[in-house]
Amino acid sequence: MSKFFSSKYASLVPYTPGEQPRDMQYIKLNTNESPFPPSPKAMAAAAEAAKGLQLYSDPTAQKLNEAMAAKYGVSTDEIIMTNGSDEVLNFAFMAFCDETHPAVFADITYGFYSVFADINRIPSTVIPLREDFTLSIDDYIAAKGTVFIANPNAPTGLLLPLSEIERLLQSDPSRMVIIDEAYIDFGGKSCVPLIHKYDNLLVTGTFSKSRSMAGARLGFGVANKELIRDLNTIKYSTNPYNVNSMTMASGIGCLSDEDYTRENCEKIISARAYTMQALREMGFTVTDSRANFVFARHPAIAGEELYLKLRQKGILVRHFTSPKIADYNRITIGTMEQMQVFVQTVKEILK
Ligand code: PMP
Repeated sequence: MSKFFSSKYASLVPYTPGEQPRDMQYIKLNTNESPFPPSPKAMAAAAEAAKGLQLYSDPTAQKLNEAMAAKYGVSTDEIIMTNGSDEVLNFAFMAFCDETHPAVFADITYGFYSVFADINRIPSTVIPLREDFTLSIDDYIAAKGTVFIANPNAPTGLLLPLSEIERLLQSDPSRMVIIDEAYIDFGGKSCVPLIHKYDNLLVTGTFSKSRSMAGARLGFGVANKELIRDLNTIKYSTNPYNVNSMTMASGIGCLSDEDYTRENCEKIISARAYTMQALREMGFTVTDSRANFVFARHPAIAGEELYLKLRQKGILVRHFTSPKIADYNRITIGTMEQMQVFVQTVKEILK
């Protein structure tokens, strides 16, 4: 820390992203990216948009908003487009939390929530998951504050039914609920249609996973227009040009190629079923993941040891050191071929 660093942030512990090593070619199963390239339509649109980079991007993201509105069955003023969904999540912490509205989230969930709370100096209430990593909605109904739930959750992959989310939304209409649907396209049912029923719901999503655009940084929030206006107040007070023109164009290109996205999701879902079954046959405990990753532990090998041995053999998975999940690894689902190599390698390590 330099002597100039503000004391406001002296104790801030930043989020640690998964490794992006450049030293060799890994089978990269550690950051929940898609193994498939972006849609050719997304790539072509980005290249075309590069010709106009001398101009600022459209701060209203109008054309992309129109394509999103058509896709999600909402109107353009019920959407905000952001620089990854990390940005809309940060905006939500800024807009909907304060001293009297602490951020409420699970002990085992997306690690950025606690960082967003800290950097914005928002108090937080952390609610432990049950022993089996399931989430009890009653705990959240009983807590005071703005609730953040990843659905499916990360890194467990467990999915809450919409009826449970509705129970939370109904329990206190004066409480904001943010549902982070980064992984919803891999087998979950989205809450987006509920925004017309509940004015205390914000749903966030991303193009980073099912749409193969992690490097483009494109995320979004969907909610009633008053909430979107609040998020825009934050956006226009930080970075009006938060989504660059190439990303905006590639988002539109991607949305025009829904068959491609759907086919890729189906491939991931089949490779996930194959991986879960193979791991269970080897004696792993595997959570019932509905995301593009699985979460698994083996009684005969520590989580960290397996992670390191896989790394030596050129396969990267994600290991978290927090004690409750240190036995586990989170394994992103790649192509079927990659998962066959992964399974074979794990078999060799266990021998
Ligand atoms: N939510 C969850 C649960 C995530 O795992 C991630 C990805 N790390 C994000 C949000 C943010 O993803 P992005 O900023 O790429 O949209």
